[in-house]
Amino acid sequence: MKKLLSIALLVMFCLAPAAPVVAQDAEREITPLGGDLYRFRNRFHVNLVAVTGAGVVVTDPINADAAGWLKREIGKLTTQPITHLIYSHSHGDHASGGKAYGEVANVIAHANAPETIDGVRPTIRFSDEMSLVVGAKTFELTYLGPGHGSDLIAMVVRPDNVAFVVDAVSAKRLFYRDFPGANVDHWIEQVKVVNSLDFDVFVGGHGPVGDKADVANGLRYLRELRAAVLEGLSAGLSLADLKQGLDLDKYKDWASYEQWRDLNIEGMARSLRESGAL
Ligand SMILES: [Zn+2]
Repeated sequence: MKKLLSIALLVMFCLAPAAPVVAQDAEREITPLGGDLYRFRNRFHVNLVAVTGAGVVVTDPINADAAGWLKREIGKLTTQPITHLIYSHSHGDHASGGKAYGEVANVIAHANAPETIDGVRPTIRFSDEMSLVVGAKTFELTYLGPGHGSDLIAMVVRPDNVAFVVDAVSAKRLFYRDFPGANVDHWIEQVKVVNSLDFDVFVGGHGPVGDKADVANGLRYLRELRAAVLEGLSAGLSLADLKQGLDLDKYKDWASYEQWRDLNIEGMARSLRESGAL
């Protein structure tokens, strides 16, 4: 019996995911990416943490509980204080609860971000691009233009060549519902900007860790969806016809395909009509 138990434990151990986890509870985990970079997942939202040697750089707080937990866990990883907070954008599901990080000397957001983000006032703003050196790391920030929101930025960390991008594009995952409130042509431009950046590893604000090809595939999906919806509606097909007949099968393994395929088609049609393309 003892032997069976140890075999069972051995099998469980071997089947456990390969990625080591430095801290976790039921809702969240911190996973090292190498080079003193860490991916923090809180339920369906993700951020990136960098321990630079001259302070810790954190990104989206997500919410007060998440940021409070992350701050405590960072305190177990390093004695360096949190010196920089970089907001990907100001949407509440990613940007709430920043006060839970405590007093952070440098708070960075895009120029279009509101005066305060859930009570936190950015101290540094930029319009197009900004490069920030903190200890051993350089953070290259790039504005993605309007589309998903109006203050969305991408971050690439050197020398690791790790990109952190929220909401504009995710790895192997359909786009969010019906592109709420957005002009999809602007959204495509945002993904083009991400695709033009130089990086190897892609950390999305949602979904798994990916690479450069995942961004290119996301861009291809958007372009194919746009062309197919435009062609179908121009030829007199109804939205119902499109949902029934559009062949997006090659993306069926992507996350949220079942839930968001039809919504993606609806949102694309809505955006094409609103922008006058139809
Ligand atoms: Zn957003």
